[in-house]
Amino acid sequence: MAKFFLRKKIGDRVVNGHPWIFANELGDSEGEYAAGDVVEVYSYNGSFVGKGYINPASQIRIRLLSRDKAEQINEEFFYKRLLKAWEYRQQIGYVENCRLVFGEADELPALIIDKFNDYLVLQTLALGVDRWKSAIVAALNKIFSPKGIYERNDVPVRELEGLPQQKGFLSEPFDTQIILRENGLKFHVDIENGQKTGYFLDQQDNRRAIQHIVKGADVLEAFCYTGTFSLHAAHYGAKSVLGLDISEHAVNTARRNATLNGFDDVCTFDAVNAFDVLKQWGKEGKKYDVVMLDPPAFTKSRENIQKAITGYKEINLRGMKLTRPGGFLVTASCTNLVDPTLFLKTIDMAAKDARRKLRQVSWQTQASDHPILWHVPNTQYLKFLIVQVL
Ligand code: SAH
Repeated sequence: MAKFFLRKKIGDRVVNGHPWIFANELGDSEGEYAAGDVVEVYSYNGSFVGKGYINPASQIRIRLLSRDKAEQINEEFFYKRLLKAWEYRQQIGYVENCRLVFGEADELPALIIDKFNDYLVLQTLALGVDRWKSAIVAALNKIFSPKGIYERNDVPVRELEGLPQQKGFLSEPFDTQIILRENGLKFHVDIENGQKTGYFLDQQDNRRAIQHIVKGADVLEAFCYTGTFSLHAAHYGAKSVLGLDISEHAVNTARRNATLNGFDDVCTFDAVNAFDVLKQWGKEGKKYDVVMLDPPAFTKSRENIQKAITGYKEINLRGMKLTRPGGFLVTASCTNLVDPTLFLKTIDMAAKDARRKLRQVSWQTQASDHPILWHVPNTQYLKFLIVQVL
């Protein structure tokens, strides 16, 4: 197995637990290797750090899988890691639907697996883990005997690893239009053509957080995707709910979800650009008791953080203007590069511009089946805030 040595003075981050090693952190190496192989990593003074998969084509050159020199990386290794991830989800109470594997937070870098009741959806986002796909599928079959496994590797980030974008069955073909249950509601999930893996499990606990503020309320949700927050609002007693999303496909599914749950009379969905519509309605002086915003990630690159902040500020400013005095704003951000402090600061700037005062109701993050490792900062990415807009 090839050996790599970290540069002197660099590597504290890695020694202290971060699993990524960047190209510029590596010094000497010994031995032959091919892209995607597992290699050993040592500090500059020769002490063992860990082993992980290497990809010379990627800026994240090595992703560590194990800190144990004796541990073999083989089929059994992946089986054990998956079992451990599943045991953890059960321990914290996420059984029917959960993010079964959240990459680095489960010591399986670049692997994502969502469990939607009897179905599993998988993403292998780095070359090293992609090579173990059949071992992972075999382990999933052994642990779950699932009704189906599907690969949603149609994501641009794979190209940074020299991998093609692709999607398809990793089991016998099955009907990819499934239904999942959450908080007493039912949702259509389109595993093949839905966004990401088909459903945003990371907001599953946050959807419950709106329970008390929506009773009898007129609710507006922008960026509603398949209407999950909107349906929760109806379920918790909202008088009327209007959900907006730019995607026709999402809005159609949202409408089907309203029908599925018997809320056709409460929920309406429209396919529009939320930025335009919220601006227009603000001018017209429209008001809602509750406004909910869950926009997509505005940037994935450090150079565009300022653009993302401008986007968050603008949309939240518009949201606040549409909120009746004493009403509530429910707002989220999934942009990894916008950290929680920066997000709150942005909301504060929006409130100043809107000349409104805020009273904090809840300040939350992603559901616990997306674990946050304190020594791996980018495992915390979701910000979720409820404020009363005074
Ligand atoms: N809250 C949802 C997830 C929202 S994802 C849930 O928990 O399931 C963000 C959504 O914003 C996507 O559905 C995307 O289609 C939509 N979107 C992106 N840009 C938009 C725009 N300008 N106007 C309205 N919707 C937009």
